[in-house]
Formats: sequence, structure tokens, C-alpha cells
Amino acid sequence: MDAVREKTEGTAGGFQCVRCGNCCKWPGYVRIGIEETAQIAAVLGMAVQSFTDEYTMLTSDRRGLSLKENDNGQCIFYEEPPGCRIEPVKPLQCRNFPVKWNFAGWEKECGGSGTGQIK
Ligand code: SF4
Repeated sequence: MDAVREKTEGTAGGFQCVRCGNCCKWPGYVRIGIEETAQIAAVLGMAVQSFTDEYTMLTSDRRGLSLKENDNGQCIFYEEPPGCRIEPVKPLQCRNFPVKWNFAGWEKECGGSGTGQIK
């Protein structure tokens, strides 16, 4: 099920990522494009088709792919420290949170909220 993925609140309090990993633990799609699919597969040393079969799913609107999530809702590529297993090529959706998109109440969940200079 897709969680709310819209920019509903600003980042006026500032933001700087502190690698708390909370954004990787929320259930919801992590959408990936064709280029991202190829980049992630390459980093994992997998053929694109194998990566797609093992780690992605079709979104409910059938318009694209999302990374799979674990039973607890966290991203399939998140693991307790060190965190994201595909950090060098993590999807744009991950890199854009919370400045370019977020959701109501994100500040309570994000460890970097109110700690930085990015508005
Ligand atoms: S791809 Fe990486 S940064 Fe994005 S949600 Fe998954 S673990 Fe987190």
C-alpha cells in the first residue's frame, strides 16, 4: 500500500540528514525508474531482469516499479547499521526526502528535522 507521498509541509525548521534510517522504515512505495533499475542492478552485480524479479514489484497503478519491502514495512535494502545497502545509487525518491516531498507529521519521525540549514 502506498503511503502519502506528497509535499504537505515545508522544511522551515531546517533539515540535515543524521542517518537515523527512519525514512527507510516507513511502509510505502519506493518508486524507481528505468535508469535507477539498471544502476542498482549493476551495483549489486545482478542482471537487470534478475534484480527486477527479486527486488521490485509493480505499483498498484501499474505505471512503474517500486522496491519491495519487508514484512515489517521497511525497505528491502535497509539494514540496521550501516543502513542503506545501495546508498551510492539510492533512488531519487530517497534522496529527495524531506525537502522535495514529505507528509504531514514528518518532523516527528525524522531525526534530522530542525537540525540543519536546508529549508
Ligand atoms: S533505497 Fe535505501 S535510502 Fe531508500 S528507502 Fe531503501 S534503504 Fe532507505
